Amino acid sequence: MIKKIIASILIVLMIIPFQPLEADYAHAEAGTATISVSTLNVRTGPGLSYPVLTKVHRGEEYSIVDTQNDWYKVRTDSGEGWVAEWLVSVESASSDVSPKQEGRVNTDGLRVRKGPGTSEEVVTVLNTGDRVSISDEESDWLFIEWGNGSGWVHEDYVSENSTTSSPSKKRENEEGIITDNSLNVRTSPSLQSSVLGVLNKGDHVEVTGSVSGWYEIQFGSDKAWVNDAYVEFSSRANDDEPASSSTNLVGIITVHGLNVRDETSLNGSVVGKVSKGEKYSLLKEKNNWYQIKLSNGKKGWIAGWYVQKTVTASAHESEPTSENENITVLYNGTNIRSEANARASVIERGSSGDTFPVISKNGDWYEIQLEDGSAGFVAGWVVSIRSSTGENTTPSRKRSGGLQDKVVVIDPGHGGRDSGTTGASGTLEKLLTMRTGELLAEKLKSAGAKVVLTRKSDEYLSLPSRVSLSHYYQADAFISLHFDSILDSSIVGHTTYYYQGRQKELADEIHGSLADRLPTKDRGVRVGDYHVVRENNQPAVLLELGFLSNPAEEANVNTQYFQDLAATAIYHGLGDYFSD
Ligand SMILES: [Zn+2]
Repeated sequence: MIKKIIASILIVLMIIPFQPLEADYAHAEAGTATISVSTLNVRTGPGLSYPVLTKVHRGEEYSIVDTQNDWYKVRTDSGEGWVAEWLVSVESASSDVSPKQEGRVNTDGLRVRKGPGTSEEVVTVLNTGDRVSISDEESDWLFIEWGNGSGWVHEDYVSENSTTSSPSKKRENEEGIITDNSLNVRTSPSLQSSVLGVLNKGDHVEVTGSVSGWYEIQFGSDKAWVNDAYVEFSSRANDDEPASSSTNLVGIITVHGLNVRDETSLNGSVVGKVSKGEKYSLLKEKNNWYQIKLSNGKKGWIAGWYVQKTVTASAHESEPTSENENITVLYNGTNIRSEANARASVIERGSSGDTFPVISKNGDWYEIQLEDGSAGFVAGWVVSIRSSTGENTTPSRKRSGGLQDKVVVIDPGHGGRDSGTTGASGTLEKLLTMRTGELLAEKLKSAGAKVVLTRKSDEYLSLPSRVSLSHYYQADAFISLHFDSILDSSIVGHTTYYYQGRQKELADEIHGSLADRLPTKDRGVRVGDYHVVRENNQPAVLLELGFLSNPAEEANVNTQYFQDLAATAIYHGLGDYFSD
C-alpha cells in the first residue's frame, strides 16, 4: 500500500512541472549541456509533443543557445533543437555564479521567518516536498529562496540535496543498493513501461544515470530503470561518510573557480580559489562544508555541494586475497577503472566471460591484473569470483524447502546471431528455447522461486557469460534449454545432460518428470561435455527437448500444448529436486 501511495506521489510529481528555481539556474545561457542519459531526443520545440529532430548521447556536450521553461535549446550537428533540462547537466560559462544548494522541505506547515530565530516574524508557510534553494546559513538556521520568496527556517526542516540545482537525484556510475523487495525493473522511466524483472533488498546495482524519480541501472546486459525511492548509496560510492572521522577522504572540485572561504558560510571572506578537477584532502567537515589546505599552506572551507568525494585507495585498505583467485566479467562493456570507485576514469572495457587474476580486494572492488600487466579496478557486483583451482567461493544452498526463494537460472539456448539448429521446416531453435524458457519462468515465479533468464530477448550471449550468471546469482539450479538436430531424421526424443557427478541428482529429478509427462521418446539421462554444465559450479543440466531434424517432432514441439507440457514437466522436476 505504501508503495502505491509513493507511486501515486511520483506520478503527480512527474505530471506537475517543477517550480522554476533561481535565476542563475533558469538562465544558464551560454552554458554547456552535458547529456545525462544513454539516448536523448532533441526536439523541434520546448515540449515532449514536438517532433524529434535528432538523438544525442550520454556525455556529449552541446552549447545552450536559449532556455524556455524546463527546456534548453542546444546546437547540434543536425541544427538547433530542444532538450529536456532534467535530462542534462549544465555547467555555466561564468565562473562567479554564487553557489546555491537545492533543498526540499521535509515537514508540513514549516514556518518561514524574517530572521534566524523563533521570535522572528513568520513570512509564510511551506510544506513537505517544496523545493527551495539554500543560499546562506547562520547557526542552526538556513536562508532559503523559492520562486519570488525568501526567508529563514530551522535547518532540521530542509533536506539538502547532495547535488546542485537539479530536480532529480542526479547519479551516474555509482553503486546503489536496493532497499525493498520485489522492486520492479522497467524498460523506461515510467510506471507504464514494461517490467523486465525484479530486484530485492540488498541487491547491488550500478546506477548509470538518472532522471526525475528514476535511476537508470545496468540490468544484465541491458539498461533499465528503477524508482529512485528504493535505491540507496553506500558511503564508499557517495557522500554520506563523515569526513571528520576519516583522514583519507579526497575531494575533487566539480566547478571552475570555486571560492575557498575562511568560514563555513557564503559570507566568509575568500581566502583562495580552486579549480575544477583539482584534488584536495578533506580535513574536516562542518555543515556540508569541507576544510582543505591550499598549496600555499593556507586552510580554508569549500562548499560541500561542489566537491565530489572519494576514498583514497591507500595500501592499508586493501585486503590481500588468497592466491590464484580470478574474476570473470559478467557483462559486455563492463568498466575497468583506474581506481576503486565508480567515478574513476575508465581505462578499459571488459567483455562478458573475460577472466582476470585478482591482485587485491578493496572494499567492494577488485584490483585486477590486465593483459598488459598493468592494474585496474572492477566493481565486485559485476563480476563473479572463482579460484583457479575451480572451486567457487559460493556456499551451496540447501535443497529442501520447496521452490520458494530458490534461485533458478533458466538459460534459453542460443540467440541473436547464433540461431542454434534449424528445423526441417525452418523452426529456429533459439526462438523455441526462448518460448520454453519464458513459460518455465512464469511457473517458477508463481511458486515463489527467484528466476533469472540468461537472456530475455533474441540476443547473443556467450557460453562463459551464461555460466557466469549462474555463479553470480548462485543458482540453486541452472537449466539450459535446447532442441536437437541430427542427420538421421528418424531420430526423436528428449535427453537430459549433466557433466559433473554432483549435477546428477538434479538431472535425474528433472528427467524423471520429463519422462513421466512428455509423450515423446525418452532417450535418458547422459553425461554431456557441454560448456554450460561442464564449467558450472552450481547444479546444472542441459535439456534437449526434441529433434527438430524430424519433421513430425518439429511440428509437435512447436505446439503450445507441447511447450506448456515441457515447461510443466521441468517445473515439477525442480519441485521434486527441492522437496525434502
Ligand atoms: Zn542447442
